[in-house]
Amino acid sequence: MIGILGGGQLARMLALAGYPLGERFAAVDPSPEAGVRDLAHLIVASYEDPAALDWMAEHCDVVTHEFERVPAASARRIAERTPVRPNAGVLEVAQDRLSEKELFARIGLATPLFATASTRAELDSAVSSVGIPAVVKTRREGYDGKGQFVVRARADLDRCWDELVGRAHEGNGKDLIVEAMVDFDRELSMLATRSISGETAFYPLVENAHSEGILRLSRAPADSIDPELQRGAESHARSIMAELDYVGVIAIELFQAGGQLLGNEMAPRVHNSGHWTIEGSVTSQFANHLRAVTGRPLGSTRGLGNSAMVNLIGQLPDLDEVLRIEGAHLHLYDKQPRPGRKLGHVTLVAEDSDHLEERLSRLTALVG
Ligand code: AMP
Repeated sequence: MIGILGGGQLARMLALAGYPLGERFAAVDPSPEAGVRDLAHLIVASYEDPAALDWMAEHCDVVTHEFERVPAASARRIAERTPVRPNAGVLEVAQDRLSEKELFARIGLATPLFATASTRAELDSAVSSVGIPAVVKTRREGYDGKGQFVVRARADLDRCWDELVGRAHEGNGKDLIVEAMVDFDRELSMLATRSISGETAFYPLVENAHSEGILRLSRAPADSIDPELQRGAESHARSIMAELDYVGVIAIELFQAGGQLLGNEMAPRVHNSGHWTIEGSVTSQFANHLRAVTGRPLGSTRGLGNSAMVNLIGQLPDLDEVLRIEGAHLHLYDKQPRPGRKLGHVTLVAEDSDHLEERLSRLTALVG
């Protein structure tokens, strides 16, 4: 049995990829509505619940996560009795934007200029040191654009502090990281995987479009990728995984500015920008993650044409119209609609980029 910490759509897609391999799943999630509920033995509990963690340790051959904010101490508790992959130390690095950036710097991946701040006065000096415009982020617990504030003038700083930290914490509040706003050409992600024996495999670079901090569209492979850029991204990913003694799939989010790649953040798990691999690659990111954590050989990461992935956010479009588009694959996460919530995604796979763009324009007209 494979244990998953977290029971959302990523756990659901892991389970769907695991059934053909004869795997069974258990998941811990605080919500009884967790998307994996019909596909795994779901333990409804907090990620700190000792009984839930001990149950996983006792019954699972290996435990992984679909959610990087699981406390590292919980992963360590399980790891005393059964393997946890990727390891608990990975969670610690990925939970703090500063330690992520320090890791990137250590392995030679450039990052946006940044400074840290824990007090209102430090926020002033951090913004002075990186310049305006700046993107201020909470070091921990931010996701999908939450816990971020774009500072366009010094007059914004009071509002930035109030929003991210709160007026009550005048002196000392949350730890922040202040980044120079990068005038990037585009956002890319590198999805990579590493096995227990250190074998690695890399997907083609993906181009991602966000709005309101949420991923809307991925194209794979990204258009006009210089082989040198792909090799550079693979080499950075290889170094990051080696440094962390990583096992499983990782996503590294990058900004491309001219010929340069800058590291933004990493997700130590299967990732939304890799959903296209379910139909668009020889082996999906989910199948490869399972192969890696269960000690099996990795599968080919070769693409099967041109793919695009569109997230269904907040509300669902006319599903029959979506399904009428050739090459459209619909994935629903069994979630109640709510503004800003990822309810599913559609992947389009086409034999060339012209067909892809034609189908994508039909799809985006439906999704809005
Ligand atoms: P993050 O949560 O760090 O991935 O940020 C969410 C989105 O905000 C990114 O995908 C970018 O579109 C944008 N963003 C974050 N950091 C920066 C930055 N330093 N410069 C420009 N845009 C940024």
